[in-house]
Amino acid sequence: MNLYCIKMRASQNNAEQNKHISGAEKIVQGNEVSMQTQALIHRAFNHPKGEADFINIKLEKTAPDDILQLDALPVRTIEVADADEGLRTVQKLMEQIGVTNNRHLLEILKEASFMRGAILLDVDTFKRLEPDQARGIRATYMDRVRQPFEQEDIAKNHFDEALVLATKVAYAPNIIGEICISDDPDYVTGYVASKELGYVRITKLKEFGSEHGGRIFLYKQQEGAVHDTIHYLQQQKVLVHTKQPKKADKWAKLEQGLQQLKQDNLYRTMKEIESAPDVHVTYCGKDIVMMASNNYLNFANDARVKDYALGVGQTYGIGSGGSRLTTGTTTIHRLLEKKLAEFKGTEAALAFNSGYVANIGIISALCSKDDVIFSDELNHASIIDGCKMSKAKIVVYKHNDMNDLEEKVRQHAGCSGLIVSDAVFSMDGDIVNLPELLRIADQYELFSMIDEAHSTGVLGASGRGICEHFQLTQKPDILMGTLSKALGGEGGFVCGQQKLIEFLKNKARSFIFSTSLSPVTMASSIAALNLLTEDSGQVKKLQENIRHFNICLQAQGIPTLSETAIFPIIVGDEKKAMDVSATLLEHGYYISAIRYPTVTKGSARLRIALMADHTKQELANVAAKIGYILKGI
Ligand SMILES: *Cc1c(COP(=O)(O)O)cnc(C)c1O
Repeated sequence: MNLYCIKMRASQNNAEQNKHISGAEKIVQGNEVSMQTQALIHRAFNHPKGEADFINIKLEKTAPDDILQLDALPVRTIEVADADEGLRTVQKLMEQIGVTNNRHLLEILKEASFMRGAILLDVDTFKRLEPDQARGIRATYMDRVRQPFEQEDIAKNHFDEALVLATKVAYAPNIIGEICISDDPDYVTGYVASKELGYVRITKLKEFGSEHGGRIFLYKQQEGAVHDTIHYLQQQKVLVHTKQPKKADKWAKLEQGLQQLKQDNLYRTMKEIESAPDVHVTYCGKDIVMMASNNYLNFANDARVKDYALGVGQTYGIGSGGSRLTTGTTTIHRLLEKKLAEFKGTEAALAFNSGYVANIGIISALCSKDDVIFSDELNHASIIDGCKMSKAKIVVYKHNDMNDLEEKVRQHAGCSGLIVSDAVFSMDGDIVNLPELLRIADQYELFSMIDEAHSTGVLGASGRGICEHFQLTQKPDILMGTLSKALGGEGGFVCGQQKLIEFLKNKARSFIFSTSLSPVTMASSIAALNLLTEDSGQVKKLQENIRHFNICLQAQGIPTLSETAIFPIIVGDEKKAMDVSATLLEHGYYISAIRYPTVTKGSARLRIALMADHTKQELANVAAKIGYILKGI
């Protein structure tokens, strides 16, 4: 395929002067000629030096064999404080390529100012070798290889053109180097280039505003004659392969991230449990007492729940085949929602695919950028993420501090928005001051939203959660919860007025754009809710265990007190918490160490989660074991 050399020279020609505006070179394929020519004309008309009134475009066909292909010189940059330091740097680089006596060189460089071409200087005799000293020598017929569909970038263009020229010159016979300072008064960066040095940018080689600049090709005769050099510079067609700067290995960032986590004792791993979720599980072939699971009522492995759910699977199948608004709503989904509304005493309910997904969907649907969300500093990550997705202003108040909340709400009086809190804080086990929170929400006409992940099935005489605990008839506007904790299954939900549910069905993106959960999963929650409403025996056992475990910990001098199934034992140091957890596992107790970012740095803790089916003896034993280990560290 033939290539074409395009040369453009643009100037302003009038009676007084003949002012050079712009010059450029391209070597392009036939189909690019017209586009590249237009680009060059555009450049001549829109040059900062002025609009050209004389544009000379020369187009020559050339055979690919006539073109010398070169790899671009490697580029580096030397930062200097001022032009003096820059010029000293040039002298040092010159010494490296064997040009001593180089102070003289900088004098000669000054002579090059206002010359259109370069000086061709014999470094042994310091004689100028250009046949026409007024014009100098021009290196022409060169371009870089462009990638297909590559966009031209003006700023990068100038740099690439300089690099292409320097590369061509560096490979000229008898040329040992080049020095260049731009004559553009705003451009003070210059360069030194040679095969040995590469293309070395020096950030300051003259003062701002100076029009001095020029180019010297350094000639040292080795073979051939000076006209070979001049011929190469002026006639040899050269295509330069400029490599894209190599980006950092995309995986290195990940590896570094993981390394950092390990170093900070924040690296996470998964433990594989080899049996059903129950009070006793098999881990590494050993029987272990599970004290870390949110399966508080032990419904996850309840025979009645499993029978019902698996039976539903036989009838309704496994997958729902679509989102809730397409094919994913079965009789089972509707039944569960009816049961949830009854259980929480609200008009309606809506199931989501998980508690996480419920929180992000609800909050981002209810709030937008003109709203304010007041959020407890210890709220669950899914609430935090929902707040962020909503783009509302997020005001974080001190943990369960209703005075701080009210003060912050007052500062935003008149704003629309939402107060949101966990009912039971997932890593601390304490209970929100709901009566006060509701009072503030009412008084300032804000929505109230409570996340019942750890209160459903745990709080209240019949396990109905936070409202039953406080014996409130008034309910938060948005009562959110999860099916994955005390109910032992999977999924999230929201209970509230019919209009809230209608709104969320239409607006909550995490509800709309995801395939609904399997009827089997939904059925397991129906069965768990049935068990819970028919008999509060498991709730009572859990609450009795909570009472008992407080006494066990007190007896060991461990200051943790809790009204819920969650008992945090603060250790502080991340590594220490991990070690204690590992030791407990060796002794047959599965207790998670909770670290940043789940809790704040330096507040790493053991998080004990009680189940209704732990025996009193197991609770006493583990308290004693923890007391013993903690005394030892
Ligand atoms: C576990 C939890 C969630 C998330 O529920 P999943 O069903 O596990 O996604 C939301 N909020 C709180 C407070 C939780 O503890």
